[in-house]
Amino acid sequence: MQIVDLRSDTVTQPSAEMRAVMAAAPVGDDVFGEDPTINELQTKMAELTGKEAALFTASGTQANQTAIRAHTQPGDEVICEGWAHIYNYEAGAPAALAGVQLHPINGRLGVLDPDMVEAAIRPGDHHFAQTRLISLENTHNRWGGTVYPLKEIKKIRRIARKHRLKMHLDGARLWNASIASGTSIKEFAAQFDSVSMCFSKGLGAPTGSVVCGSRKFIDRVHLYRKMYGGGMRQAGILAAGALYAIEHNFERLTEDHRRIKALAEALNQLPGFVVNMQTVQTNILIVDTSLCRKKAPEIVEELTERGIKMIAFSPTRIRAVAHLHITDNDIDRTIEVMKKLQTG
Ligand SMILES: *Cc1c(COP(=O)(O)O)cnc(C)c1O
Repeated sequence: MQIVDLRSDTVTQPSAEMRAVMAAAPVGDDVFGEDPTINELQTKMAELTGKEAALFTASGTQANQTAIRAHTQPGDEVICEGWAHIYNYEAGAPAALAGVQLHPINGRLGVLDPDMVEAAIRPGDHHFAQTRLISLENTHNRWGGTVYPLKEIKKIRRIARKHRLKMHLDGARLWNASIASGTSIKEFAAQFDSVSMCFSKGLGAPTGSVVCGSRKFIDRVHLYRKMYGGGMRQAGILAAGALYAIEHNFERLTEDHRRIKALAEALNQLPGFVVNMQTVQTNILIVDTSLCRKKAPEIVEELTERGIKMIAFSPTRIRAVAHLHITDNDIDRTIEVMKKLQTG
């Protein structure tokens, strides 16, 4: 049985061509700063984001957490959205590694109300933690791959300036946000002091992320990357996969967006399934199954038995993600299988 794996855009396999490029990559000891392929990738990412410098990291979590550590002191507070990846899916690292506390604010489609952000900033009084950083996420994973519009980011930026706060962007899927909105990565990045981005999501590279920022800031991130165990040696093999992915798999993200939208529209025609089309902006869809006779995990199990893989996000929500390997046929087959589930 052919499997349609819609669990995540991280399940992709490197193509034969990508593997060949990786195998042939010139490498050196990156802890000495001597890996030419990593240096090329870092230069490219600094250019793409319009920042002075960039640093390759093992994962998106390592990128976010080294950045948070470099922006803060233990005891500081970081404002983020209630469903933010740094808050929900990074193993408590802000507390464990940076010693900071997060101040989550519930957003709408992952977008924060500027007044609520301003109200959350602590007064400069000895009773309080010092608010130091605001972290935004674009696209917002848990909200369904929603784009944080540039106009909205600018409102938060104005508040950050007024209160002398730093801004970090968790841009694991900023690639998708840029393709979907027509706003360049550079325009997004200009509103932030630091930006993290992943090569291992929609771009389809096997491993790796990056942090971009000022030279001075990246120098501090470098220290924490070493401290957090991220000093890799001949990792240019991985950077080569990332360089290949940027070149070949960035523009095509629009196909993933088109396919997930088609799936979302079709699911909305089936009894029991509700997809809020406002949240379907990129390569992720969240389908609400509250009206189904079956719970989300049960539906996911039945789908898996029929060769369609998705993830139950909660007892009433299922996530599906389009990526490099998902074809129009896969979407059609998924719709056919879901029609027959008798969930209504
Ligand atoms: C995937 C992801 C990350 C990083 O995850 P890793 O698995 O550590 O690479 C960070 N932020 C968001 C929004 C993500 O989706």
